[in-house]
Amino acid sequence: MRVLLVEDDIQLGQTLETALRLEQYAVDWLRSGEPVRATLRATPYDLLILDLGLPGVPGMQVLRQLRADKHTLPVLLLTARNTVADKVDGLDSGADDYLPKPFDMDEVFARIRSLLRRGSDRTVSRLEVAGIVLDPVERVVEFDGASLDLTAREFAILEILVRNAGRFVSRPRLEEGIYSWGEEIGSNTVEVYISRLRKRFGSERIETMRGVGYRIPT
Ligand code: CA
Repeated sequence: MRVLLVEDDIQLGQTLETALRLEQYAVDWLRSGEPVRATLRATPYDLLILDLGLPGVPGMQVLRQLRADKHTLPVLLLTARNTVADKVDGLDSGADDYLPKPFDMDEVFARIRSLLRRGSDRTVSRLEVAGIVLDPVERVVEFDGASLDLTAREFAILEILVRNAGRFVSRPRLEEGIYSWGEEIGSNTVEVYISRLRKRFGSERIETMRGVGYRIPT
């Protein structure tokens, strides 16, 4: 799951970024609202966490623009203001949930799971293909009826392949799913994870087409 965080407060931004990564979300953090539109066009996200009080373009304007652009991704608003009018305004503008500052990190995670669970069309609760059952929100994988412990990146790669079952997925697309901005991508990283996944699920479950990518055949 990939989260776009828009927060100008450096300390809060760092706290959220670190906490979300520990919860095994891929996180990209923007300090202002201006680049949000272009960022969402360039990269698929599962959730937007948006601060309302931003320098330059205010969060509410970012939100309205996003909905005007027909983006359906779930939006969790963060704000220091906590009046009923603000809350109604935010929800009316297309936010899915609203969290007044200060908040508890467990509360953030609970809201995120709930949003992802009921969230956009991309998010279904359980995905099933070739004997692999994957729950993207709870981050649970079962294979042949037994649950498996995967690392965050193994899980991220598997999730992309399962979501695209039957279709080849390119290496850059897989890299995008496991790295946040600023992290260096090793040249054979995807191959390493694919090979680990093959050990778990059997090599026939992930096909390689040279120069094209990888797929789980259906
Ligand atoms: Ca702020």
